[in-house]
Amino acid sequence: MTQIVEPSFRESVDLMFNRAVALMDLPPGLEEKIRVCNATYTVRFGVRLRGQIQTFTGYRSVHSEHMEPVKGGIRFSMGVNQDEVEALAALMTYKCALVEAPFGGSKGGLRIDPRQYDEHELERITRRFAYELAKRDLIHPSQNVPAPDMGTGEREMAWIADQYTRMNTTDINAKACVTGKPLNAGGISGRVEATGRGVQYALQEFFRDAEGMKKAKLTGSLDGKRVIVQGLGNVGYHAAKFLSEENGSLITGIIERDGALYDPAGLDVEAVHQWIVKHGGITGFPDATHTAEGTAVLEEECDILIPAALEGVINLSNAANIKASLIIEAANGPVTAGGDEILRKKGIVIIPDMYANAGGVTVSYFEWVKNLSHIRFGRMQRRQEEARHQLVIDELTRLDEHMGDAWSMSPLFKEKYLRGAGELELVRSGLDDTMRIAYQSMRDVWHERDDAQDLRTAAYLVSIGKVAASYQAKGL
Ligand code: GLU
Repeated sequence: MTQIVEPSFRESVDLMFNRAVALMDLPPGLEEKIRVCNATYTVRFGVRLRGQIQTFTGYRSVHSEHMEPVKGGIRFSMGVNQDEVEALAALMTYKCALVEAPFGGSKGGLRIDPRQYDEHELERITRRFAYELAKRDLIHPSQNVPAPDMGTGEREMAWIADQYTRMNTTDINAKACVTGKPLNAGGISGRVEATGRGVQYALQEFFRDAEGMKKAKLTGSLDGKRVIVQGLGNVGYHAAKFLSEENGSLITGIIERDGALYDPAGLDVEAVHQWIVKHGGITGFPDATHTAEGTAVLEEECDILIPAALEGVINLSNAANIKASLIIEAANGPVTAGGDEILRKKGIVIIPDMYANAGGVTVSYFEWVKNLSHIRFGRMQRRQEEARHQLVIDELTRLDEHMGDAWSMSPLFKEKYLRGAGELELVRSGLDDTMRIAYQSMRDVWHERDDAQDLRTAAYLVSIGKVAASYQAKGL
């Protein structure tokens, strides 16, 4: 029997790119220019830990510099390798183009299992890695701006920002060298929840698309829809939490490293999250059925499947067994090119990664702008807005007094209307707007072009078109 070999992550991204680009009419050579990764820097550095020198390997790949700075997270994981960072950097290019974040694509990674080190050790390793990258302008406010990814978060971003600032003491824009920082170190409200929030906004917009819903054989609203989530990390946790608490969806399955939880009546996401924080995994969680073979739960009946963990989890070996109507790729590259083909043939609609998880980089963009403008969003206009609203309320109050029982203003309206938007409200509004507009640009291509039969191809067509236009504007 011949064994079917799955292409690598990088090859998978290229195959999907090729499928779309074959439908375009790009000038000769431009297609290849866009596809290839411009450069990948590999660094090996030593850190003295526990009495001996340990050598670490890290990467920063720059996929496309049609716009600068280039943007993309830094991942800490043992799975990091050149093929992976290059695939992820390419996805960043397409993602930024699709949501109109004015960046090229980049990605970094360090081969490390962060759970094996204490905080002090991790700080030394992170600072050393940041030093190596900053020295070569691979961390720089106008050249290359990293952000969190798998295995990293606000804490690591604060170390990176501080390291860059120490190396560039006169750079007034130093804080803009990295995004995803804590609020007290130049971050922005709503960045931590942003990717999960973006998944929620993406689904809300999908549910407004009657034709898309028909293609996915779905009806009604998100309320009561059965959702299975793989990975309760930052992205999966926030997406599942918002969908269950705000949209009334039922989170029937949660898949984690140590198995899966299943409850057809819906799991309490916050309780599961608290359990993981306390016990390091889902094992022992009392209020659900536990399955040791977690990935089997990907194949359970559900309306929406949210892979929010690793790449390549839906592939040639299991795609045929997936029963969801809709898959939303909260992770980068969770479906391989082969898996994608099987799912498409089965009529399962996939909301592709480059759109579905773009909430993170969108709010990173807002953070970068905030850092460069040196002022918090809403600071100038909030109270002025409130004062103008007060005028309306005063007038309505006067009317209220004259009308007696015939009409009265609801107290909730008064409270809600009076409040001017702070940074968090503005960030959420900007993110919602971005997710809606990007969806609509893909949707039009998906529904109008006979040769773009799926959302991923539509997403590539839109984003490659934008990248090509900016190369052409440069005279390339
Ligand atoms: N690592 C995230 C991603 O894959 C965020 C990137 C960023 O904010 O620059 O999109």
